[in-house]
Amino acid sequence: MWLDSHCHLAADEFDADRADVLDRARDAGVDRLIAIGSGYGIAGNARAVELAASDPRVFATVGVHPHEAKELDDAGRRWLDELIERPRVVAVGECGLDYHYMNSEREVQRAVFAEQAASARSRHMPASIHVRGDEPNAFEELLDIWLAETRGEVEGVLHCYTGSLAFARRAIEAGFYISFSGILTFKNDRGLREVAKALPLERLLVETDAPLLAPQGFRGKRNEPAYVVAVGEVLAALHARPVEEIARATSENARALFRLEDA
Ligand SMILES: [Zn+2]
Ligand SMILES: [Zn+2]
Repeated sequence: MWLDSHCHLAADEFDADRADVLDRARDAGVDRLIAIGSGYGIAGNARAVELAASDPRVFATVGVHPHEAKELDDAGRRWLDELIERPRVVAVGECGLDYHYMNSEREVQRAVFAEQAASARSRHMPASIHVRGDEPNAFEELLDIWLAETRGEVEGVLHCYTGSLAFARRAIEAGFYISFSGILTFKNDRGLREVAKALPLERLLVETDAPLLAPQGFRGKRNEPAYVVAVGEVLAALHARPVEEIARATSENARALFRLEDA
């Protein structure tokens, strides 16, 4: 069985047919999903928490996406502090740095990511982390802030990884898992398959980041959790392992990271 370690199931794009989307995920063998709270407006966190509370297949994260960093105020902080304590919330995030779109100023992004990392440490929670931008800046700054704030006491996952092999190895040493999305299946993967092939399976996760980033064959369509299988199939080919073994390994990795047995 598969686990989609990062999807935006709470996004408006799924309002019309969310139950069908979950049925198709089940039919494809995807039996666990991590619904990311942030990324579609800070208020969207509440919807992810509600979805997790109402469906045993779904777990939630609560956090502030770098795009939303500029929206965070003290009332929002207090609200998120309460929300993150709710049942079946398994991680902080997604949070991080995005120097590609720059929807929030760098200084604001760095400060809010530092807060999120500190929150993960104080709560002993893992984090789902977004990093985008040219290496080295965004990636180096992200790792520096994370290690300064967490002192390496909690784990995280670099979701939708698009960085270099060298950085991925350092991130793994620093306690991160690496998660691959549909980009791994794209004809033009910009070298990402070589990165995925060289990394140890015991630190890898798969995800859709739905509704965006539909895999090759579904490009241009809305992405959904069922398509995480397409990402796993490419990973299986790269590692020359049976698809079932990739499903089991990536699900076990996610269960360990997010401590789903305790949630
Ligand atoms: Zn992201
Ligand atoms: Zn995301």
